[in-house]
Amino acid sequence: MHRAQVDHRSSAFPELTRSILARLPQVVNQTQGEAFVFPASGSGMWEAPLVNTLDPGARLLAVRFGQFSHLYIQAARALGYQTDVIELPWGEAASPERIEEALRNDTAHEIQAVLVVHNETATGVTSNIGAVRAAMNRAGHPAMLFVDGVSSIASLDFQFDAWGVDMAITGSQKGFMLPPGLGMLYVSPKALARLADARSPRSYFDLRPMRDQNSRGYFPSTPAISLLFGLDEALTMLLEEGMANVAARHRRLATGVRAAVGAWGLSQCALRPEIASDSLTAVVVPAGHDAARVIDIAFRQYDLSLGAGLSELAGTVFRIGHLGDTNSLTLAGALAGVEMSLLDSGIDIQLGSGVGAALHHWRVA
Ligand code: PLP
Repeated sequence: MHRAQVDHRSSAFPELTRSILARLPQVVNQTQGEAFVFPASGSGMWEAPLVNTLDPGARLLAVRFGQFSHLYIQAARALGYQTDVIELPWGEAASPERIEEALRNDTAHEIQAVLVVHNETATGVTSNIGAVRAAMNRAGHPAMLFVDGVSSIASLDFQFDAWGVDMAITGSQKGFMLPPGLGMLYVSPKALARLADARSPRSYFDLRPMRDQNSRGYFPSTPAISLLFGLDEALTMLLEEGMANVAARHRRLATGVRAAVGAWGLSQCALRPEIASDSLTAVVVPAGHDAARVIDIAFRQYDLSLGAGLSELAGTVFRIGHLGDTNSLTLAGALAGVEMSLLDSGIDIQLGSGVGAALHHWRVA
């Protein structure tokens, strides 16, 4: 990424654009439709699917089970879309049964799209998107399926075609192993067909000029050139490894981290083992202790950044990220830092217990 900028209107630039756009779909197993890249964060990408496919005030269905699904709903409502919400406990996964029920009740087929966060980064929970699509099909409902894949895409298995996803979004700073600043958007043929007729006002995130310029290897406005250099290389790294291997690596690292949490005698925010995320683990501190203190000790004393408990989980949860450019040794160091921080904040754990439990999963026999 630390290269001289290339003139993005030059005849040399399309090579970079084409290299990226041709390979981006492979990350999510997308063979139909198109992929796009914007200079934006993940939150910007919440907006793009909505304004490009919907009429003003359109009705949506969303599931709230953590801070990011909450913010996604807020974004949809701020843009004027009427959003029905299925409320679930934080720590649960999206319920296909509840989605099916809500869609069956919508006999007039007013709901235009279902919004689901694939991996709820606030709680460390992964939802089954294939099961959500199956529920939508069982209900015989024509709504589109919009998926926030910010902390899943390029880390966890993502089957864009097979799960019948219409729009999926992510940002550069998670599975793509880059600094923040790029938003990626995957669009199905069904959603692309809506671009011409959708009447929502849109400008920056309008996919029509983006599509037009991309087809010639350019962007409508100045792209984040350094990040595109990085994305090109990230794609090479991910596709060399193979997406199935990337997912397996994340599963292996997550299994070790979960074993560590168990060895400390602590519980996860994820309410059931089968929904625990392979890209991060949210750990609940024992009653009477403050997770914010653990996080601050980790940061100040051990130079370790843990994720905070967000909103209603503030003070009760800290989060260990294990996605992207990490490996068993860097994670073993992180777990060691967590152990010292837990003990320093008065939480009684056995030093080395979590690291030891993880290493049993990570050693190559
Ligand atoms: N969605 C999820 C699941 C996230 O984890 C995040 C950020 O962590 C976002 C959306 C928002 O992304 P950004 O902070 O890049 O705007």
